[in-house]
Amino acid sequence: MNVKAKVYYCLTSVAIAMLTFAGNEANPDALELAPLPLPVEFKIDMDKPVPFDSSATVAVECPDKEAADWLAAHFKEWYGKDAPKVVSGKAPQALSSKLQAQSSEAYAITADASGVKIAARSLAGVRWAAYSLRQLAIAKRGTFKTEGRILPTMSISDKPHLGFRAVHLCWFPELRPQQIERAIRLAAFLKFNYAIIEPWGMYASEKHPWWHWPNPTMTKERIRSLVALGHDLGITLIPQVNAYGHASASRSCTIKHVALDFSPEYEPLFEPGGWNWCLSNPATRRVLREIIAEIHEDFGNPPYFHLGCDEAQPPTCPECRKSPYGDLVCKHISSLAEFVKSRGARAMIWHDMLLERGDPRWEGFVHSGSKDTAKLADTLPKDVIICDWQYSYKNMKEARIDWPTMAYFNEKGFSVAGCPWRNYNAMKPMADFIAKIGGFGLVETTWHHLRDSDWASMYRFASSAAWGTPVRGRRASPVTDIEFANVLRMAGHDMKVDDYLDAGNVNYQLPPSWWIDN
Ligand SMILES: [Zn+2]
Repeated sequence: MNVKAKVYYCLTSVAIAMLTFAGNEANPDALELAPLPLPVEFKIDMDKPVPFDSSATVAVECPDKEAADWLAAHFKEWYGKDAPKVVSGKAPQALSSKLQAQSSEAYAITADASGVKIAARSLAGVRWAAYSLRQLAIAKRGTFKTEGRILPTMSISDKPHLGFRAVHLCWFPELRPQQIERAIRLAAFLKFNYAIIEPWGMYASEKHPWWHWPNPTMTKERIRSLVALGHDLGITLIPQVNAYGHASASRSCTIKHVALDFSPEYEPLFEPGGWNWCLSNPATRRVLREIIAEIHEDFGNPPYFHLGCDEAQPPTCPECRKSPYGDLVCKHISSLAEFVKSRGARAMIWHDMLLERGDPRWEGFVHSGSKDTAKLADTLPKDVIICDWQYSYKNMKEARIDWPTMAYFNEKGFSVAGCPWRNYNAMKPMADFIAKIGGFGLVETTWHHLRDSDWASMYRFASSAAWGTPVRGRRASPVTDIEFANVLRMAGHDMKVDDYLDAGNVNYQLPPSWWIDN
């Protein structure tokens, strides 16, 4: 009997993989390491470690000549004097043939006594390979301080399920900017390739300073530094400006308003109450264009721009009440989408105003529109990307396989992205459905839950769905502790965090007021 436990995973043997993912004969309780998200094909032997230190050589085959230099520079950053050497060259045929067809992001790795070898079609593939390796490398055993690292003997072949894989991050005033940076770094390590950033009144616009709260932390300098970081790590940052509802840049239940609370002279730009922009006021569109241009430029003019447009309210001002609201909204969004296009980007919007409340077809799905705004599904330009957020509100454990609202937008001719939140069981079937209909991608929304075990679950389940592989373990389990903790800590190391608040998945273990009050 073979005394070494071997872990082998492939798409057709999920059940077997789950059973054999732990232990060996000597220690059946032992756990196996695996990178997040789990690679499509993954074979590992933890009981045969190989050196991953300055004595090791990593051979890279990639048509992109920058790839080997990128890898060497990052090994140096991550491992210092213990960094393995990187050489560029031809990978063994057996490894190159493992590159899964049709994906420029595919990669394959072997690590054994003969060294570490990587094959990839692009720098993106080399990055994903590097993040898989990094998650599997641990310090050599038996020393006081780290003296180089080891890897398990392994073989990986991997490719993404969806080409567009994003997290949506909210830059709340309460959030430390360090948290946003960690979230971006972590998203890249989990092989998301886009991050949509919603400013929540924290964007330091120079053109319209009344559109941010005092002392905004989303400064131009910080944005540019995060954009450059994303460029290096393989994740493109996309700005968001809510161009219709959510004009207060605050959660509605708080009644805070980024403009009206401190600068009431801008009242005409908003509908009474302030939740919607006033769409009939020409000054509104001018202001929005100016903010869009400014923030798009600060983000380095990325190829997408999110215009929000969710959860808007019916019009209340006398001018907006004059004409059918669907026509006014369509003109407004189309004009801004056209403006975004003139800047070389595609507009994205949330979907819900395009589905009529009370339409029996959407029972059980998020739909916030009226009969009039639902006409937008026929009138909006088809190059607007519809971000269909479905959160399984009535059944958060839902694992449906059909997503009729996404099919609807797809049939109308739109590119559609599936957007889950905390409905973890729904993420993989949603990603599978998007792949099946040839949809645009997956956007994992995080809102005010970028913390605690929800953060781990949102990232683990969504990245796995976007790569088409199952999640190991439950929401909270020793597997989660190893997988997520390791990679979160790496993000912190790379940022050189030295504040207690920036360690772990929460700022405080206990509410600080406990000690002040007592
Ligand atoms: Zn109005």
